[in-house]
Amino acid sequence: MERIQKLVSHMPEDMDAVLIDGPYNRLYYAGMHSTAGTLVITRDAAYFIIDSRYIEAAKKTVKGCEVILQGKLYEQLAEILKKHGVKRIGIEDTKTVDSYLSLKEKLPEVEVILDRRLGEIISRQRMIKEPCELQSIRRAQDYTDRAFTHICEFIQPGMTEKEIALELEFYARKIGAEGASFEYIVVSGPNGSLPHGHPTERPVEKGDFITMDFGCLADGYCSDMTRTIAVGEPGEEKRSIYETVLKANRAAMAAIRAGVSCKEIDQIARDIITKAGYGECFGHGLGHSVGLEIHENPRFSPTCEDICEAGLIMTDEPGIYLEGRFGVRIEDMVYVTEEGCINLTKSDKNLIIL
Ligand code: ZN
Ligand code: ZN
Repeated sequence: MERIQKLVSHMPEDMDAVLIDGPYNRLYYAGMHSTAGTLVITRDAAYFIIDSRYIEAAKKTVKGCEVILQGKLYEQLAEILKKHGVKRIGIEDTKTVDSYLSLKEKLPEVEVILDRRLGEIISRQRMIKEPCELQSIRRAQDYTDRAFTHICEFIQPGMTEKEIALELEFYARKIGAEGASFEYIVVSGPNGSLPHGHPTERPVEKGDFITMDFGCLADGYCSDMTRTIAVGEPGEEKRSIYETVLKANRAAMAAIRAGVSCKEIDQIARDIITKAGYGECFGHGLGHSVGLEIHENPRFSPTCEDICEAGLIMTDEPGIYLEGRFGVRIEDMVYVTEEGCINLTKSDKNLIIL
């Protein structure tokens, strides 16, 4: 499998092998959805050790690895490492301390290397999306756009935030989404000032803004979108804040392309919001990378030192939050190219008034 070969070609010289059992990395390299499984990659071979619940599926799905039925895991690992003359094995920095200690204890013949290097190599590889990954994310976003169209027809004053969140998810799954890419945020009226608020029993009222931040899963890949809509005429102040956020979203998007620093993109949106007098009301970063996980690196934030590269999928999500009053966030997901970026989000972002 090409992904495994690429990882081997970037493996630090002092590692003879790597062990991968984090759920997202395992899915990325073995191509198999499972809650268990251990991937061992040496310089000349790859093994996927998996228990009986998954063995039949693994034999059909996993390519480029020898699939082994899990028995006594540590004994199996020791045997593989001995066979390939492995003296030093690298592990992911996301492992628990307990599992790290167990490995060290149960594999006394090899040195277990735990540092940041393997995680960084994998994160760099996962950052640049392959065409098939882009296709899955486009599909996830298509479910998301269709669910948004549906919910705009569904929402009525008097419905609660919870009812709206549930309908969004139910509809998305009905049309094919594998699931929600994270717990949906539906916040209305004064709850809108909570950027990551949970849906409550609050009924939406005329004059409210409703912010909906949601996404779907397709082939394990996430989509992420936010829209803020009005129920009835929102009034001058809300309209003007909405326009400021939209302006920030559009200006950042126009600047995204390979070669520009992530920090700079964040600054473009932040300057617009600050100039309008709401700099203090935009507390989070402008965006993040999306893939198998909803929040991946790099980030559009004031502290991110990374440079945009072609093949990244990033969100552009400025917001203004007025404590105890209301909030606005508009989030699109883009694919970065050499010349600019392609907006993967098709939903209208001009203010929708129901
Ligand atoms: Zn979001
Ligand atoms: Zn996001």
